[in-house]
Amino acid sequence: MTKKDKMAIAVEALEKRYPDAKCSLTAENPLQLLIATRLSAQCTDARVNLVTPALFERFKTCDDFASAQESEVAEYIRSCGLYKTKAHDIVEMCRQIRDNFGGEVPDSIEKLTSLSGIGRKTANLIMGDVYRQPAVVTDTHLIRITNRLGLSQGKEPYKVEMQIRKIIAPEKSSDFCHRIVQFGRDVCKAQSPKCDECELKSICSQKFDKKAEKTKK
Ligand code: SF4
Repeated sequence: MTKKDKMAIAVEALEKRYPDAKCSLTAENPLQLLIATRLSAQCTDARVNLVTPALFERFKTCDDFASAQESEVAEYIRSCGLYKTKAHDIVEMCRQIRDNFGGEVPDSIEKLTSLSGIGRKTANLIMGDVYRQPAVVTDTHLIRITNRLGLSQGKEPYKVEMQIRKIIAPEKSSDFCHRIVQFGRDVCKAQSPKCDECELKSICSQKFDKKAEKTKK
């Protein structure tokens, strides 16, 4: 079986398991999603969703953020961790969006990654969720699970993204990434994956023995 065949099976199985999978960050427009995603670095989505309502009530537009004091933004996001860096990035990226992109969240990975604090992971998420373009959000869940399935090798996000882009149907890629996050939380956990109840077991290169925690090749 080719990697493309295995990927198609994984895509279909996760579509069945999570028919409504979507980004777990709460946002009402592309700018809010971009900011929420920046806040989610080294923080849980649930925590981000707790702080963003007040933040987005105080700062409603790109201009509002672009002209904000970083210290005031920082107070709203203190509990998300790295809050000074994140506040700096949010204000700076909004200035760049205002000055370089007419106030609209840009629509290419190259332009998005030119923004302060925005890497390929976030850029891919915006491309998939906002612009409905092929997107591979290469986070820890995607790397771990596709490594285990034998669909990717290595931990370097860019390399894994390129490997997955070669084998996944482009129109399925964005939703698959949301589903694999949920699958990583529910089944293929970092510690003690639930291989016994896993619907991908038949195509997995690395099933774990529950008792011995050994790899069955
Ligand atoms: S069989 Fe186990 S290691 Fe493989 S994908 Fe399923 S839960 Fe993960």
